[in-house]
Amino acid sequence: MGLTDQQIERYARQIIVPGFGGAGQERLLSSRLMLAGTARDIASPLAYMVGAGVGEILLQLPPSDSGEQNSLITLAARLNSEVVVKPAPEEIAPLSLMLAIGAESGSGELVSRLRLVATGVPTIFCRANEPGRVAILPGAPPCLLCADADLLGPPKERGNNAGFIAMVATTEAFKLLAGLTAAAVPMLLEFTGFACVSRELRQRESGRSCGCGR
Ligand SMILES: [Zn+2]
Repeated sequence: MGLTDQQIERYARQIIVPGFGGAGQERLLSSRLMLAGTARDIASPLAYMVGAGVGEILLQLPPSDSGEQNSLITLAARLNSEVVVKPAPEEIAPLSLMLAIGAESGSGELVSRLRLVATGVPTIFCRANEPGRVAILPGAPPCLLCADADLLGPPKERGNNAGFIAMVATTEAFKLLAGLTAAAVPMLLEFTGFACVSRELRQRESGRSCGCGR
């Protein structure tokens, strides 16, 4: 594809990062990301992804936030007109990555939508509660449904550091989209106070099979 002079200038700050380069930028520009969460939770991640030059971003907001959707799209167009931001259509494939942020009790309806698209799509899922958790699922198995952590459990209260946890998830999504993590493994990051503990995620042994491993 190749980058134009204008693109090189616009994205210079990240192109000069070792391991990123022009190839990483080209990968971002040809990516299709689904960003799911409440307007409050996805506003900053959206601004970051639009600024970074992710080619196409599909927004999946809960119906209660449909009013805020247009202003998010307008802001994004002002920030970087090269990026297409639009509401997620019924048919979302092909998708490079799903970045979902659930912090509040209102995100329960969102989780039920995520269940439908979760299998087979590389996913970063963030529960910005207390403790904050970020699941990195580069490719099933495991998927959001069958990972051995209760990722889709009932909604909890928003954590004090919800914004920070959401940005950690955004950075992980950025790394996956740009191909900065060559051999990414499924991981769970858990934030308690100032500590971050990580462990590898595996497929749950018991329970129903989601079919993502086929
Ligand atoms: Zn699965």
